[in-house]
Amino acid sequence: MKLTLKIKLLPTDEQANLLLGTMKEANTVCNAMSDVAWEKKVFNNFKLHHETYYSCKAAFNLSSQMLIRCVAKVADSYKLDKKIKRQFRPLGSIGYDSRIMTYKPNYIVSLWAIGGRIKIPFVCHNRNYLPYIKGEADLVYKKEKFYLFQTVDVPEEDIKDIEEFIGVDLGLTTVAHTSDNVEFSADGLNKYREHRQKVRSSIQSKGTRGCKKLLKRLTGKERTHSSIVNHTISKSIVKSAKEQGKGIAIEDLTNIRFTSKRRNKKFRTKLGKWNFYQFRQYISYKAILSGVKLIIVPPAYTSKTCSTCNHIGKRTNKRFECANCGNVIDADFNASINIAAWGRAINLPEKTNMFCSLHSC
Ligand SMILES: [Zn+2]
Repeated sequence: MKLTLKIKLLPTDEQANLLLGTMKEANTVCNAMSDVAWEKKVFNNFKLHHETYYSCKAAFNLSSQMLIRCVAKVADSYKLDKKIKRQFRPLGSIGYDSRIMTYKPNYIVSLWAIGGRIKIPFVCHNRNYLPYIKGEADLVYKKEKFYLFQTVDVPEEDIKDIEEFIGVDLGLTTVAHTSDNVEFSADGLNKYREHRQKVRSSIQSKGTRGCKKLLKRLTGKERTHSSIVNHTISKSIVKSAKEQGKGIAIEDLTNIRFTSKRRNKKFRTKLGKWNFYQFRQYISYKAILSGVKLIIVPPAYTSKTCSTCNHIGKRTNKRFECANCGNVIDADFNASINIAAWGRAINLPEKTNMFCSLHSC
């Protein structure tokens, strides 16, 4: 499975200046190439190379391979459409491949820069993916820091035949509740978000230009925070499924949007904007890498159906009550048991009569 690894470079000041110089030069070249592409209506990588390579080689300070990466970047940028002429920011990202970039032992990467190769130390959160580096990387300059967004091809584990599933209910009061009755509470998150919301409102009321910048920075911080939470929860669920030899069943996300609109306003500001889409992306790729089967179940009835007798019951905030069998249970837990049952049913339809009991067909 292909993933993108974020590698943070730790250049010296001198190396940083060399990288910046290289990025500027490469983007200047890209703009020159884009001019040619636009004027001559040549957008194909091969033809654009033919039109621009030699003149750029003579006029600029880039190595052959860096020029090739520039042609690729320009050609790539016109792939979406050819209606607007593309222009590149002076410090926009530039591409590296194995001819101009080498990973060395002890977390050092050697990059081509104007004036020659430079060896830069780096740090990376997912070190166990480093052996699977494959193909190209983008050198990105963001908030005065350098990153390589490196493609890795991590081997997937085989998915084993399984029958049992952990159902995951994505909630609004809790981020997730599983059919193992593990609740990933949102309490800490809610407090964090409420606090942020207050800070945000007080800044917004001032409305100056500096405020806008600050708001933007806060948004970035919140995004990082929620991404870490999503990573942690999805990792924990996948690990648990793997250990128990179960699959994971999760609701179709359209349900989240639907219910978040319908539930009351208080919840909406709390977790309604939670990035469940990202959560599902994380859980999906972690499941694939660990060889855990993931099944997406239709959201209909999962929160209204009684997990004991399959009759429609009543959900009031955190509480689910079934008038038919007298079942009283945490509403999210109830939903997660239904989701697990759906996982089983979709996985092995011949072994269950669930479809009929739910649809009374
Ligand atoms: Zn019941």
